[in-house]
Amino acid sequence: MKGLWYADDTRLVKMTADGLLAVHPDQPKLWTTRPFVEYDSQRHVLLGLVDDVAWFAVEAVLDQTVKSFREIGAELDPVEADIAVTTSAILNWHRSSPNCSGCGQPTEVTNGGFARFCHHCRREHFPRTDPAVIVAIVDDQDRLLLARAAGWDNNRVSILAGFVEAGESFEHAVHREIAEEVDVSLGELHYAGSQPWPFPRSVMIGFFARAVSTEISIDGEEIVQADWFTRTGLDAALSTGEVSLPGPASIAYRLITAWREGTHPFAP
Ligand SMILES: [Zn+2]
Repeated sequence: MKGLWYADDTRLVKMTADGLLAVHPDQPKLWTTRPFVEYDSQRHVLLGLVDDVAWFAVEAVLDQTVKSFREIGAELDPVEADIAVTTSAILNWHRSSPNCSGCGQPTEVTNGGFARFCHHCRREHFPRTDPAVIVAIVDDQDRLLLARAAGWDNNRVSILAGFVEAGESFEHAVHREIAEEVDVSLGELHYAGSQPWPFPRSVMIGFFARAVSTEISIDGEEIVQADWFTRTGLDAALSTGEVSLPGPASIAYRLITAWREGTHPFAP
């Protein structure tokens, strides 16, 4: 670790305690520097090597241009987008979990920042990731179900998502969440890729699902509105501002776009 920290081409990514990344003021790029302080194994995380160049991350107070991953994620090149989500995942974990979950004592950062060790009870701790399923539901007329959750602003609608509960398979979580939120029955499921979403610590597991019932009954608490959309209906609602879609950095956007372009697994 230490040798890499002092290498000539090493790059250091900085993120605030609020999860905002240092970015270039006028290009969609992360702002990186060479490390110019002494290596501190408790603060400096080795993210990995990209083409033999070491990338480290550190949490810092920043007085430069900063942006959230939601704002800039879709514009970053894929390598920098990966670096940004890993930075967020690992630094969020260190911030929220400094003490041992077994005995409560402070732990030491080890393994370049990817583990913490408790010297008191000899336990090693690793970052935790909470799986959540996200589901694009299509009916037999190739309409897409879009919903608005309580608290979303800007008339935002999206596909439905929810956390996987203890003891559940991803598939079971899909059926349960959709039954709870809109009371629609699902038939066939298609795995549609996943996306780390460490804000603060999720991974989204994407599915396309075919609806076998179309009557919607929203729970009214988590979900305040849900409707079936045709492509032209969605285009019209977007153009008038009646609805808006999630940001392009999200897997939700990717699945909605696959449906809009007719490239989804249930396309007629
Ligand atoms: Zn302990």
